[in-house]
Amino acid sequence: MAKLWCSEMQFRAIDACVQLHGGYGYMWEYPVARAWADARVQRIYGGTSEIMKELIARSLGLPGHARERS
Ligand SMILES: Cc1cc2nc3c(=O)[nH]c(=O)nc-3n(C[C@H](O)[C@H](O)[C@H](O)COP(=O)(O)OP(=O)(O)OC[C@H]3O[C@@H](n4cnc5c(N)ncnc54)[C@H](O)[C@@H]3O)c2cc1C
Repeated sequence: MAKLWCSEMQFRAIDACVQLHGGYGYMWEYPVARAWADARVQRIYGGTSEIMKELIARSLGLPGHARERS
């Protein structure tokens, strides 16, 4: 739960920072662009956000993936 929440919050925060910088925020010359790329991968590695939701759902006793329900 913490991994999902922190990853998604980090992404929202850094994405807002890039937005604040406008076009400069998209250019590698500006550290905020590197920070965005570094933050983006958190939602993929160590268990993607979708997989985190699967695990949380299972821990709550809810059905997991659609394949398992059929
Ligand atoms: C920079 C980096 C470093 C890494 N370091 C390591 C490491 O040190 N050790 C290691 O073991 N691995 C490492 N990985 C691999 C990483 O753990 C995997 O990339 C990650 O588990 C996602 O697997 P995948 O890339 O095969 O994507 P996939 O599993 O193919 O996922 C692709 C998309 O499909 C979605 N998806 C997949 N299954 C489901 C599902 N059942 N329900 C809903 N959506 C689903 C995913 O959420 C994702 O959006 C690293 C990856 C990166 C990018």
